[in-house]
Amino acid sequence: MKAAVASDFNEPFKITVVDKPEIGPGEILVRIKACGVCHTDLHAVQGDWPVKAKMPLIPGHEGVGIIEAVADDVTSLKVGDRVGIPWLYSACGECEYCLSGWETLCKQQLNAGYSVDGGFAQYCKAPAAYVAKVPDNLTFEEAAPIFCAGVTTYKALKVSGAKAGDWVAIYGIGGLGHIALQYAKAMGFKVVAVDIQDDKLHLAKQLGADITVNGMQVDPAQKIQEELGGVKAAISVAVTQRAFRQAYDSVKRGGSCVVVGLPNADLPIPIFDTVLNGVKVLGSIVGTRIDLKEALQFAADGKVKANIEVQPLENVNDVFERLEHGAINGRVVLSID
Ligand code: NAD
Ligand code: ZN
Ligand code: ZN
Repeated sequence: MKAAVASDFNEPFKITVVDKPEIGPGEILVRIKACGVCHTDLHAVQGDWPVKAKMPLIPGHEGVGIIEAVADDVTSLKVGDRVGIPWLYSACGECEYCLSGWETLCKQQLNAGYSVDGGFAQYCKAPAAYVAKVPDNLTFEEAAPIFCAGVTTYKALKVSGAKAGDWVAIYGIGGLGHIALQYAKAMGFKVVAVDIQDDKLHLAKQLGADITVNGMQVDPAQKIQEELGGVKAAISVAVTQRAFRQAYDSVKRGGSCVVVGLPNADLPIPIFDTVLNGVKVLGSIVGTRIDLKEALQFAADGKVKANIEVQPLENVNDVFERLEHGAINGRVVLSID
């Protein structure tokens, strides 16, 4: 099969022919049609994080396609079903996290396109228990970004503690952020969208942001505190440390700062303010299987729609170059034939 393979960290992808995966018990083989490109894929091939990706690597954790084969013991899915393979590739199913509906915290988990090969390929195999069905009324390209950008931001908003009518701030209107703001609107929140590029803020306005702020021109936290008295929740999906501190400074007393973006940096926060303001700082990692199902339903209902740019798999190096330089508005989805 054809795949985009990173042979080592910081090496360009080569489009090469590799062996088609062979399925074992509990697994399905998916003929991939489309796969979104997440900034996480860039972190993976750059070796940005303390825990490194496997190498060589086929990235991709927004791969969607059609099931071509199922193992004999698989009864929940059949050949021809349309499914997607998310970041949470598998978990143990038995630990305290798995048993309490927090399989995203399982220490035995595997991650698509990171610890196992992912969706930048014509085929990808996966455990049947961890894939999700693509709603009938969505194309593969439309559905792909929901498998990471969608479920991740939906979950972050869920854990933020914000309720309908509350103000939330989204820092970083990229692949995740432009979808985050649509979930936020659909959940009844009022939204401040913050980015450092005007084209991203223009998209945010089109997608229903109530206020947009260019963090290069004004201090967003100061503006948010002055005009709104702070937000109930600030979600940072940017990839720079500065945005996280600004997100923290945007929160009102009793509110929360949800940390989602993953720059390899610390988040220095003042203990005094955190204590006296009763501010919560919480990390949020993708979403569970039920979160994914719910996130997909929002998309199926037309409440959330990724702004997608479709590119052939062969253009993957160019896409990564643009992603690194902030030159993508929305999400690039690689089409794979
Ligand atoms: P992206 O590159 O598409 O978007 C990042 C956005 O941040 C861009 O629009 C950029 O202009 C904006 N930005 C940069 N500096 C900023 C600043 N100072 N203030 C405001 N905005 C700023 O990336 P993405 O695919 O949306 O991913 C974002 C991050 O989220 C990555 O670090 C990725 O690894 C991480 N991520 C985390 C999870 C999770 O489960 N926690 C899941 C997926 C992705
Ligand atoms: Zn992702
Ligand atoms: Zn587990």
